[in-house]
Amino acid sequence: MESSDQRLAEPETSVATQIILLVFVATFVSAAAVSWISIETARRQLWEQIHATYPATLEQGSQRLLRWLVEGRRLTADVAARRTSRDTLLALARDAGAPTRRASAETLFKNLTGPAAERSREVHAFVLLGLDGRPIFSTDSGETLSAAQGEALVRPGAPVVQAFSRTGQRPLVATCIPVIGPGGSPAAYLAGIFDSDALRDVLVSDRIDAAMRLDLLGPGDSVLVHAGVPAEGGTPAGEIPRPLGRVREYTSATGEHVIGVARPLGTLGWTLRVEAPYDHAFAPVLTVLRRLLLIDVGVVALASLLAYAITTRIVRPIEALSDAARRLAGGRFDRQIPETGRHDEIGLLTRTFNEMARRLQRSQADLEAANRRLRDQNQNLQASNEVLEQLSITDGLTKLHNHRFFQDHLTREIKRATRTGDPLSMILLDIDDFKRLNDRLGHAAGDEALQCIAEALAEAVRDSDLLARYGGEEFAIVASSVDLAGATVLAEKLRSAVAKKAFTPGDAVRPITLSVSVGVAQYKGDRKAFFRAADQALYRAKADGKNCVRVAV
Ligand code: GH3
Ligand code: MG
Ligand code: MG
Repeated sequence: MESSDQRLAEPETSVATQIILLVFVATFVSAAAVSWISIETARRQLWEQIHATYPATLEQGSQRLLRWLVEGRRLTADVAARRTSRDTLLALARDAGAPTRRASAETLFKNLTGPAAERSREVHAFVLLGLDGRPIFSTDSGETLSAAQGEALVRPGAPVVQAFSRTGQRPLVATCIPVIGPGGSPAAYLAGIFDSDALRDVLVSDRIDAAMRLDLLGPGDSVLVHAGVPAEGGTPAGEIPRPLGRVREYTSATGEHVIGVARPLGTLGWTLRVEAPYDHAFAPVLTVLRRLLLIDVGVVALASLLAYAITTRIVRPIEALSDAARRLAGGRFDRQIPETGRHDEIGLLTRTFNEMARRLQRSQADLEAANRRLRDQNQNLQASNEVLEQLSITDGLTKLHNHRFFQDHLTREIKRATRTGDPLSMILLDIDDFKRLNDRLGHAAGDEALQCIAEALAEAVRDSDLLARYGGEEFAIVASSVDLAGATVLAEKLRSAVAKKAFTPGDAVRPITLSVSVGVAQYKGDRKAFFRAADQALYRAKADGKNCVRVAV
C-alpha cells in the first residue's frame, strides 16, 4: 500500500505538460489533415490540367507536323508531275546509264529542282531515283540517299514518309513520288528530302512550356527530333509511355522521374511524345506544399505557445494550491497563496483555500493553547496527587509515616530479607502512663507530648530505619539489615533519647519527664510471629516497670 508521504509527493505528470501535448497533437493532426487535403486538391487539379494540356500540345504538334509533311510531299508530287519537269526527269532517268553526259545531266537536274527546293520551307533537296530505288541525281550532293534508303522508299506499300537515322547527324526524312512514264506506269521516282532543322521548329509551339520537351520518335523508338529543354543526362530517352494517348507518370531511360504522353503520328509508324520532369510539372504543388509546411510549423508553434501561456496561467495557481495543500497535509499552516485578484474559479479557489488555511491556523493555535492549559492542569494534578499520596502515608500529628505505610514497608522488607537472607528487626514503643498525662494536662498537651517524642525518635534513628506512628501513643521501627543485638542497642538509644528529652507543655512551668517502654524482636520467617514477639516484649517491658527495653526470646 502507498504511504501518505508517497501519495503527497511531487506529481509525476504535470497538467500543463498534458494540456500542451494535447494541443500540440490536436493542432498538428488538424494542420496535417488540412494540408494533406489542400495538397491533394492542388495535385488533382494540376493533374487534370496536365491531362488536358499535354494531349492538346501533342495534338497540335502532330497536326503541324503532318501538315508540314503533306506540304513537302505535295511539292515533291508537283515537281514530279508537272509536264515540263516530268519529261526532263524521265529523260534524265532514261539516260542515266550514259556516263559521258552525266555532268551536264546532273546540272540539268539541279537547275530543274533547285529553285523549288530553295523556295520550299519543307523540302530542301530532291533526289532522282531509278525504278529500283538507286539514287541517280541529287539537288544537294551533301544531302543524298543511299541505295538501300532509296530502295526502302520505292518499295511497294512503304510509308509515304520515311526517316533514316544517321550516326552523328540529323536523321534523314524523305518522301517519294513516282514519275509516271508515257505508258502510264512509273518510269522513275522523285524523292523529296525534308529539312530536318525546320522539322524541329515545326514541332515547337507556344504551348510548350519551359519544362516540357517534345520528341519525335522514329522506327525502333529512336529519337528523330527533339524539341524543348534537353532531357536530363543529355540524349533524350527513347521510351514511350503506354498506353498511347494516356498521360502517365514513369521513370525515363535516364532514370528521371517524368510525366508524359505519346501518340502515333498518322500511319507513318512514328510516335510523338511530350514529357516533363515530374518536379517541374508539379512545381506549383511543391510550392503549395512548402508554403503549407511553413504555415503548419507556424500554426503548431503558435498554438503550442498559446497553450503554454494559457495553461501556465491556469496551472501555476493550481501548483501553488497543490503545494500549499501538501504543506497543509503536513501540518504547516503558515503559507498563504498570493491572491492575484482573479475573478474566475481559480481566484475563488485561492481565496477559499487561504480562508480555510487561516481558520485551520486559528484552530491549531486554539488547540495548542488548550493543550498547554491541559498540560499545566495535568502537572498541578500530578503535584496534588503527590501531596495526597504523601498525605495518605503520613501521620497528621507527628508527620511520621502512618500505620498503612508501616505495613507496606514491612511487607517489602520481609520480602527483601527473605530474598537476601539479611537480618530484619522490629522495635515497638509505647508511651508510659500517657492516659494519666492526658487526664492531667489535657489532650492538647498530650498531642504536644506525642510530637515531642516523635521528634526525639526521628533524631535517633538512621535513614535506613523506618519510623512510623503505629497508632495512639505507640511507635514502630523497622530496622533493615539489623540483627537482634543491633536492634536492642537502637531500642536502648531511643528509650534514652525520649527519657532525656525535656518536654514542657504550653502553660506548664516545669518540664515533664516522659518515658517509653520498648519491645524488640528479630524476624524469623513468620510475619505474625515477628510482630507478636515484639508486642510481647513490649508487654514485658510494661510489666517490668516501664521505661525499659525488653527483647523477644
Ligand atoms: P501504660 O503505661 O500502661 O501504657 O498506660 P497508659 O495510660 O499509657 O495506657 P492506656 O492504653 O491506658 O492509655 C492510652 C491513652 O493514650 C488513651 C488515650 O487517651 C491516649 N491517646 C491515644 N492517642 C492519643 C492522641 O492522639 N492524643 C492524645 N492527647 N492522647 C491520646
Ligand atoms: Mg498504649
Ligand atoms: Mg501507654
